[in-house]
Amino acid sequence: MPLSEFDLIQRFFSAAGHPRDDVVVGIGDDCALLQVPADEQLVVTTDTLVEGIHFLPGCDPGSVGHKALAVNLSDLAAMAARPAWVTLALTLPAADESWLTAFSAGFSSLARCHDVALVGGDTTRGPLSVTVQALGLVPSGGALRRNGARPGDLIAVTGTLGDAGLALRRRSEGVAAGEPGHRLDRPQPRVAAGLALRGLASAAIDISDGLLADLGHICSASAVAAVIELESLPLSPAVREAVKGGDDWTLPLSSGDDYELCVTLPPENWDQAQARVAQTGVRLVQIGRIGEGSGIRCRAGDGRVTAVTANGYQHFRRS
Ligand code: ADP
Ligand code: MG
Repeated sequence: MPLSEFDLIQRFFSAAGHPRDDVVVGIGDDCALLQVPADEQLVVTTDTLVEGIHFLPGCDPGSVGHKALAVNLSDLAAMAARPAWVTLALTLPAADESWLTAFSAGFSSLARCHDVALVGGDTTRGPLSVTVQALGLVPSGGALRRNGARPGDLIAVTGTLGDAGLALRRRSEGVAAGEPGHRLDRPQPRVAAGLALRGLASAAIDISDGLLADLGHICSASAVAAVIELESLPLSPAVREAVKGGDDWTLPLSSGDDYELCVTLPPENWDQAQARVAQTGVRLVQIGRIGEGSGIRCRAGDGRVTAVTANGYQHFRRS
């Protein structure tokens, strides 16, 4: 017998996520009712993953569940918000129990890691698509934004860049993705690093569309320019090898889906920021400086400086 919508929600989602005392009413009523502390601001974001656009048809459902939540938590991390609650709108071609079991397990385990409660959603039939809305909290006035970068600030990123892009490239060439595949399928939102940078960073963004594009958003919003030192970019051994092969900086500069944080900070905050982020198990690495003007320039190891656009990586290719 096919599962009813009620049974499906009950079975796969009523206990998903982490239980929280501030959920006055969760799944089961017309709306969720959430207790927001008086001295905090609510931080809200939403992102959709569509099969065939954001993930390949037949993709492991556990990874889809993980990633749908991870990309939203990454947005909260970029604002230095602490994640609290999520809703999940699922459009499914059929109520496939093994798909739902794996999806819900991937979603729930990441939710529990971050103490996030699933408090509601919607379930409809149609082409596979997953929309998550994430709600977080930040002390009033304490959110990091894109518009606070100032000339003289350092630019830094967490983790390593280009791994997800390398995995995608390998898979599109029919090659096994190896270690970088994990970065593409199960990105780890840098929530703890975002919290550690509260009060220290002047601007922040998460890298979903590639470093140049996302740092470009900070530069536009802050009306400043940026210089990136290519040799300082933090690269995994696999990405370093790919870059060395052709002096092609496409992967770390322009490939998306890494979900690392890119932040700017006044130099006097650097030591404290690096130490605090290190305590979260992630490395924060300086990659350049904010200056006056507009646009992004990259300095190569030989000192050569070139202006780039969001997809201007070709400038660094030796033809
Ligand atoms: P309504 O008709 O009032 O929109 P629904 O029948 O769609 O209510 O949903 C019943 C309850 O189950 C609601 O609390 C809703 O938030 C929740 N819900 C529905 N789908 C999901 C889902 N995929 N994940 C979590 N909660 C869900
Ligand atoms: Mg409904």
